[in-house]
Amino acid sequence: DRGTSAPSATPAAPSGGTEPSTSGSPAASNALIGIAMPTKSLERWNRDGAHLQDLLTKAGFQVSLQYADNKQDQQNNQLQNMINDGAKVLVVASIDGTALGPVLQQAKTADVKVIAYDRLINGSENVDFYATFDNYKVGTLQGQFILDNKDKFKGADGTTNLEPFAGSPDDNNAKFFFAGAWDMILPLVTSGEFTVPSGKSPANDDAWASIGIPAWSSDTAQNEMQNRLNSFYGGGKKVNIVLSPNDSLALGIEQALDGGGYKPGTDWPLVTGQDADLANVKNMLADKQSMTVWKDTRKLGDQVAKMIGQVMAGTEVDVNDTKTYDNGVKVVPTYLLEPEVVTKDNAKEKLVDSGFYSASDLGL
Ligand code: BGC
Repeated sequence: DRGTSAPSATPAAPSGGTEPSTSGSPAASNALIGIAMPTKSLERWNRDGAHLQDLLTKAGFQVSLQYADNKQDQQNNQLQNMINDGAKVLVVASIDGTALGPVLQQAKTADVKVIAYDRLINGSENVDFYATFDNYKVGTLQGQFILDNKDKFKGADGTTNLEPFAGSPDDNNAKFFFAGAWDMILPLVTSGEFTVPSGKSPANDDAWASIGIPAWSSDTAQNEMQNRLNSFYGGGKKVNIVLSPNDSLALGIEQALDGGGYKPGTDWPLVTGQDADLANVKNMLADKQSMTVWKDTRKLGDQVAKMIGQVMAGTEVDVNDTKTYDNGVKVVPTYLLEPEVVTKDNAKEKLVDSGFYSASDLGL
């Protein structure tokens, strides 16, 4: 379990986005759409599922929305049931993106279209479309933020101690997040401007999985950070920067920093994140996290609802990237959305003014 619970603020707000275009196709009405989400234990997937369900229901579809407790076997069973129930389109945010081959073969046989949601599904030719935020860009934004702010966080003795983390090795996104950040940071490690006291410094983008945190678990990230602090930061040595790929890891890392006696506003390090989870936005406001990469999940839902409408109407499906996402068998036509940086300074403008959170959710 990830140690993060879905707060009562989930889902935060009604759609600020556009209505899906179903082109008024009579074929579309009443068709069953299956939505398979990975887990309820991470805030964003609750928001993603609820928003997409809402859009599709309003567009006249029947919807089966299922969560799989982070177990790919369970999700495969759910997908099988959706196919048996006559689903026309499956929207899948997978857990282990390499383990859906047989069930997607069944989908293909039953003429069911498959849209990979947020995470690419690997090793299967039966993935029709992919919609996601630009995953490499997420990492670039984290890396750029670190470069822009590194001088404010450097130690009194002029050294900068950095600890990098990476996401779940079975999630295809994790390597993109890491590569985007590491391509910017590694040159500073190589030049000696950044030191990685734990030694957990991948030699290149391909070596990231060795520092991956399985299942994106907050608890595992907390333990890992605690171990690094205990083993490599004796004698007053401080960590200055933590590259965390997302908010669930950042939350665990921040708990470990708390436990290690770090104090916001004094020696608290720069910590990155992703998702604008409520607990992390609150930590940003309390100076315990410097940034999060916000992916407005409503926009992803809007786009996917639009693509489903196009699939059902038999019209051309909107994509804007046909070269990046090779799943080992094919390059999957993709619609990429733009992630953006949120900090303490623009949290209200970005997250409250857009209706993603209410002011009271954030205690404002
Ligand atoms: C998503 C992130 C999320 C992570 C953990 C990734 O695939 O893109 O937004 O933080 O999974 O659920």
